[in-house]
Amino acid sequence: MEGSSRCAACKSLRRKCPKDCVLAPYFPSTDPQRFSEVHKIYGASNISKMLQNIPQHLREMAADSMAIEAKLRVQDPVYGCVGIIHQLQQRIIEVQSELLKSKCEIAFCNAHELQQQQQWQQLQHWQQQQPMFHAAHELSWLDSSDQQELTSDPSFSEFGF
Ligand SMILES: [Zn+2]
Repeated sequence: MEGSSRCAACKSLRRKCPKDCVLAPYFPSTDPQRFSEVHKIYGASNISKMLQNIPQHLREMAADSMAIEAKLRVQDPVYGCVGIIHQLQQRIIEVQSELLKSKCEIAFCNAHELQQQQQWQQLQHWQQQQPMFHAAHELSWLDSSDQQELTSDPSFSEFGF
């Protein structure tokens, strides 16, 4: 088999690339860096074992996730992809906090608007009741006048009013 037909893994490991090479579909010779990083972090043997333990249709995704994890682990030996996950989780918490604050402000504005509407309705209702208020006032004035007339009546004075 010619060297150019070997996958990146077999080329790196200086071995023949068999037709049924488990790594060949996911580590093409055109991207040697991808296998180099994964090999550095996981080791070629472990990559092969992990891919063999995964159903065929999920192996591409598994290889991609290993490549991403390895790339970030090489870039950040302390946190790896956890560093980015942590940053994004912090961002989610910040955005959720902003969202909650905005919802509270909207609720406050709605409550304030409702309160203003109720006050306006109460004012209108009170103004509509005004003629009746005046009528009631006049009636009570008449009542007190009648009462004065009654109390000034000599027949009432006899009883000490
Ligand atoms: Zn191979």
